[in-house]
Amino acid sequence: MHSSEKKQLLKALGIHATNPGVSTGSKWIKTKGEYLASFSPADGEKIGSVQAADKASFNRIVTISAKAFKEWRTWPAPKRGEVVRQIGNELRQYKEPLGKLVSYEMGKSYQEGLGEVQEMIDICDFAVGLSRQLYGLTMHSERAEHRMYEQYHPLGVVGIITSFNFPVAVWAWNAMIAWVCGDTCIWKPSEKTPLCSIACQLIAARVFEHNKVPEGVSCLVNGDASIGKLIAACEQIPLVSATGSTRMGQAVGQQVVSRFGRPLLELGGNNAIIITPSADLDLAMRAVVFGAVGTAGQRCTTTRRLIVHEKVYVKVKERLVNAYAQLKIGDPLDPKNHVGPLIDQQAVDNYLGALEAIRQEGGTFVVEGGVLKGKKYTSGCYVKPAIAEVKNSFAIVQKETFAPILYLIKYKTLEEALDIQNDVRQGLSSAIMTMNMQEMEMFLSHRGSDCGIANVNIGTSGAEIGGAFGGEKETGGGRESGSDAWKQYMRRQTNTINYGKNIPLAQGIKFDL
Ligand code: NAD
Repeated sequence: MHSSEKKQLLKALGIHATNPGVSTGSKWIKTKGEYLASFSPADGEKIGSVQAADKASFNRIVTISAKAFKEWRTWPAPKRGEVVRQIGNELRQYKEPLGKLVSYEMGKSYQEGLGEVQEMIDICDFAVGLSRQLYGLTMHSERAEHRMYEQYHPLGVVGIITSFNFPVAVWAWNAMIAWVCGDTCIWKPSEKTPLCSIACQLIAARVFEHNKVPEGVSCLVNGDASIGKLIAACEQIPLVSATGSTRMGQAVGQQVVSRFGRPLLELGGNNAIIITPSADLDLAMRAVVFGAVGTAGQRCTTTRRLIVHEKVYVKVKERLVNAYAQLKIGDPLDPKNHVGPLIDQQAVDNYLGALEAIRQEGGTFVVEGGVLKGKKYTSGCYVKPAIAEVKNSFAIVQKETFAPILYLIKYKTLEEALDIQNDVRQGLSSAIMTMNMQEMEMFLSHRGSDCGIANVNIGTSGAEIGGAFGGEKETGGGRESGSDAWKQYMRRQTNTINYGKNIPLAQGIKFDL
């Protein structure tokens, strides 16, 4: 990006060369934390830096947020929803610059950056409606002249730890729902995308200030894993929503559970598409290619394994080779390109390590990978999407490598395909390409996919906010975003009211004095 364009972009979003990174809303707090430098994976240029939190500022933030909760929970939920509605409108105004910053700081295409901001707007809309629907059930009591019902109350301070690959949307999925539920939020964004968090905080804070929302409802604590660990250990944070690697989720989950907190984990995936003999291959190819190379393979829902019936295997392989030959790799802000860079050098090293492991385990490359060099690729983070024929049992195939590597696996029967699909430790997203109703229903039945998301004739990535999002097994079991995911942000209380003159005991127990 030209320096004048960069200046203009940062100015539009209120971002400076150096920024404080800890905030309680409209107030920014000075810390003794280090500055996190943010480099664009698109051109390797430094975009700016953000000061990280330290333990003292973190503790201060927790105190302020816990105090704000006491007031925020007294606001009627629809009034909280009205604030979120205004955030949605503000995001509509800032969609283009924020989408561009997402693209420039994270490396996904501009179109995907815009899509990510649209997802934030969508969840705002969803949360506004939800603010009038935080329903509990009523039930009939077994005792005469008694009434029973359950209601949902705000929970408290919610800790939100997010990954680099969705630097703005994952925060919104959590924060917008938590806010209408009456909770306050402390967000620790990825240390790889700190500037996106500054832009979001500024947008939310303006709306909060205008509505006289108490300081501390929207808190930001930039920093590395050490700040995430403080969140996991903090007894004043009853819910910790953590999105990232399985390794991180295991550490955070155990810590949160050990203090009887509630973890909400959204971790790695190892997603597969099954292509059956009846599949519409035109449709399947489009879903597979976007799923495998979109966001340079850095989506939790990226298609990593393609399980193809032997009858169509050769055809699918040929078509994939042709499609991959047409992929344009380069600057994510240039709409002509399909594939942008990986996030950083460490990601490139992981990618190269995976290619080597595939070779070592006996895989065959159908499309060779490699790092791209030259003037267009100054950041050093551009890699070629690769395809390899493998066995599902390879250790490398069992792992999530966050890069554009697609594994091809052949199958004979649908039962075998389903076993392969489920025979990994992760359980996020899955899909089947078929025009056969029996195959489709089998895939969706209890004998089918064991994932949190199971799609028919669309790929594994690109979920809508209306459904609950998340996965099973090592993906962590969490559900965020739509449907009834909001229940995790509240505490459920069962109430029994006696409006009679006797006090009968449940189960007919007699206790007469
Ligand atoms: P990461 O685990 O390296 O980091 C994620 C966040 O956790 C960062 O903010 C990081 O600072 C923090 N963190 C790391 N270790 C921690 C610890 N021990 N305690 C507390 N906090 C810690 O992940 P990443 O590289 O940023 O993101 C990629 C991963 O995220 C992939 O595995 C991807 O599948 C997953 N992901 C999952 C979903 C989902 O919804 N299931 C969505 C997006 C990304």
